[in-house]
Amino acid sequence: MSFASLGLSEPILDALADQEYQSPSPIQSEAIPAVLAGRDLMAAAQTGTGKTAAFTLPILERLSSGERAQANQARVLVLTPTRELAAQVGENISTYGRYLVLRSTVVYGGVKINPQMMALRRGVDLLVATPGRLLDLYNQNAVKFKQLEVLVLDEADRMLDLGFIDDIRKIISLLPKQRQNLMFSATFSDEVRTLAKTIVNNPVEISVTPRNTTAKTVKQWLCPVDKKRKPDLLTHLIKTEQWGQVLVFTKTKQGADRLTRHLSNKGIKTAAIHGNKSQAVRTNTLADFKAGTIQILVATDIAARGLDIDQLPQVVNFDLPHVAQDYIHRIGRTGRAGLSGEAVSLVSADEFDDLSKIESLIKHELKREYVGGYEPVHELPQSRLDLRPKKPKKPKKPKKPKIEHKDGQRVGKQKQEKVITSKKPIKRRRRT
Ligand code: ADP
Ligand code: MG
Repeated sequence: MSFASLGLSEPILDALADQEYQSPSPIQSEAIPAVLAGRDLMAAAQTGTGKTAAFTLPILERLSSGERAQANQARVLVLTPTRELAAQVGENISTYGRYLVLRSTVVYGGVKINPQMMALRRGVDLLVATPGRLLDLYNQNAVKFKQLEVLVLDEADRMLDLGFIDDIRKIISLLPKQRQNLMFSATFSDEVRTLAKTIVNNPVEISVTPRNTTAKTVKQWLCPVDKKRKPDLLTHLIKTEQWGQVLVFTKTKQGADRLTRHLSNKGIKTAAIHGNKSQAVRTNTLADFKAGTIQILVATDIAARGLDIDQLPQVVNFDLPHVAQDYIHRIGRTGRAGLSGEAVSLVSADEFDDLSKIESLIKHELKREYVGGYEPVHELPQSRLDLRPKKPKKPKKPKKPKIEHKDGQRVGKQKQEKVITSKKPIKRRRRT
């Protein structure tokens, strides 16, 4: 299968050749023809499967025809949950659209609004935005949606986790009713499906990983340890296991800062990325990590979500996440693109409940390995995996659900068109 056979034209194919992409990833081969045909789409695939190009490429293709954007109008709106993700989508658009004459811009909070207003003045073909800043700009008449053709919701599950539901509903109420809708998510939770019913219309549905499973190439294990000894254990592992670059997750911003100080004091080049850091600092930190001048990046779940950091061999859960689903997102950061990876969780006795929830979700117990000299005084209880199936909410073969608009009016039937199950990771090259 080639990109050309999917219906993309020269300028886009040339940009892909520059990137040395050999062939479309599974999600791309399904999504691109559907989007080109003007269909709505609902796609679930884990991080690193190439979702951004799956919507960017066909959208760029469609935008090369049609009426150009007038003052303050946007023809395509891509909503993302975080600033980093918005910036990344913006970079992808520039890369894939380099041989096209289209205008695009990225807007998010935490930076001055004036330059963003200026950028929107002439109108843009593509606008990438976080919800809050988009509404600010709308309220100041800096952006209008009369010409809007396509809405993309990227990382829809994260949008919901972060409480953007009201903003999203508000934004949708401002858009023309006649438009194409594309929804992307790492998982299809019940909440995401509920949201989808109010957004997509008779969508092509694509799923490239079974729900709630983790990438098979990732070796996962846990190390029982007392809470107060975690920083020393991590230092020990980094040194004795000769880990290279490591992404470390902590539950809180304060925890991230504390751990960063601890590791730095031990002479390990460490930086933290979380919501209290300014946008400029976060961008620079990420660049330093990508360039390898920082060895350890400590992150909270929110800050790390969706970041495209290439081929990380090692992920550490310094704390277990409260939300079990976040465990899957975290370890999705390693073992990408078919490479093997390792995810280690440092687990203290007080985290046993969180561990039980995670093990039930991933449906297996994490292998335990004790590290000599760090055996806990407070023993971690034995796992008792609860594999009883959750009581199904719907009968096995549900009637095709009806799509409902916000006002509750039924407008059509939602049809499940296509479900592809393939775990094949995409081939890609190192970028940094
Ligand atoms: P996702 O949104 O699913 O997490 P991204 O869109 O961020 O994934 O893509 C992950 C990485 O894969 C990016 O570095 C991107 O450049 C690369 N990539 C995307 N599509 C292809 C492809 N067809 N061939 C090779 N690499 C690709
Ligand atoms: Mg993505």
